[in-house]
Amino acid sequence: MVSKYMLDKMKSSSAIRKMFEEGKEMIAKVGEENVFDFSLGNPNVKPPEAVNKSVKEILDRYAAGDIHGYMNNSGYLDVRDKLAAYENRTKGTDLAQQDIIMTCGAAGGLNVLFRCLLNPGEEVLTFAPFFSEYRPYINNHNGVLNVVPANPPSFQPDLLAFKEMISENTKIVLINSPNNPTGVVYTEEAIVGIANIMKEKEAEYGHSIILVSDEPYREIVYIDQELPYILNYYDNSVVVYSYSKSLSLPGERIGYISVSPKIDEHDTLLDALNVANRILGFINANSLFQRVAAEVSGETVNVEFYKKNRDLLCGLFDELGVSYAKPDGTFYLFVQSPIEDEIAFCNKAKEFNLLIVPARGFGCPGYVRMAYCTSHDKVERSLGAIRRLFECYK
Ligand code: PLP
Repeated sequence: MVSKYMLDKMKSSSAIRKMFEEGKEMIAKVGEENVFDFSLGNPNVKPPEAVNKSVKEILDRYAAGDIHGYMNNSGYLDVRDKLAAYENRTKGTDLAQQDIIMTCGAAGGLNVLFRCLLNPGEEVLTFAPFFSEYRPYINNHNGVLNVVPANPPSFQPDLLAFKEMISENTKIVLINSPNNPTGVVYTEEAIVGIANIMKEKEAEYGHSIILVSDEPYREIVYIDQELPYILNYYDNSVVVYSYSKSLSLPGERIGYISVSPKIDEHDTLLDALNVANRILGFINANSLFQRVAAEVSGETVNVEFYKKNRDLLCGLFDELGVSYAKPDGTFYLFVQSPIEDEIAFCNKAKEFNLLIVPARGFGCPGYVRMAYCTSHDKVERSLGAIRRLFECYK
């Protein structure tokens, strides 16, 4: 009865889910405190105080119809106004209210966008390693994902390979920085390089190629430097943002798309996004959290918390001489497997009650991802298990 398409997707998306189930079994056997689960990017740092405060105030301030009712599918106008002003103030953009489309997180934003841009068979080109859900999101809308191979040890985009691979069929170039799964922040030089190649190819092919930047980790950075904002580098661009990580609110399903005022077919795209939000069944983003988002702009979770976990793990890997990409952001660590078959390595890790994810699904076999969005105590107590695991391969 279940469609072939879904049966196929269930098979291919089962690795992390299976790990989740195995984690539960492990907990039942050895106790929660003895399982070192680095599998899921589910933030454990509390949202900033301002979030709770704002929820309470909003519930008191607004009549039910103004906070729980349907609204414009692209979101409350006053919220979009405030967010456009926030982006303009902090990023030097020139966004108007209409250029902000409220979405059910980045996942909702990407699906809405792909629905609007992709004709069947058109290509989305991204860089390995990449967030594994991109493939199903693109397939949902009959697009084709192509992947520029990973560029270790820096994991910056490989511009030469990109230039080779971009084709007449490329409709979207999709980037994600700070990156899941590496934690690497793409340099300004890389963004300029991507934009220049795309401009050149647009002129050569005579059609628009849209640069989509997926940025749920924008504020989770450990380096003291401005991150390039792609709307300032390339006219045919869109940024997909989410509060899932920056405010630790993944369950609330809230984020937004910023559309460049200079994008081709600007007005038609904005209308299309509005309709796509509705017909894909999202209807609109969570109403209460749209209002919260507008009020707490600029607030972020305690990034130092994640940095301390990063430093604990990196310290151990330095000592063990294990090769990894030093994350400048997110809460992921991308580590080279001591054996080629990283799935076998992740299975071995389970003997030490360690749950880590093989990077094959991120388009980069031979590596594993550790999500260190867990307590300091857990990370500290995991170090012995990680050491013993790697010692098996000495
Ligand atoms: N994009 C990336 C790179 C992610 O890591 C995630 C979630 O982990 C998402 C998108 C989806 O996030 P959201 O909860 O905002 O839908």
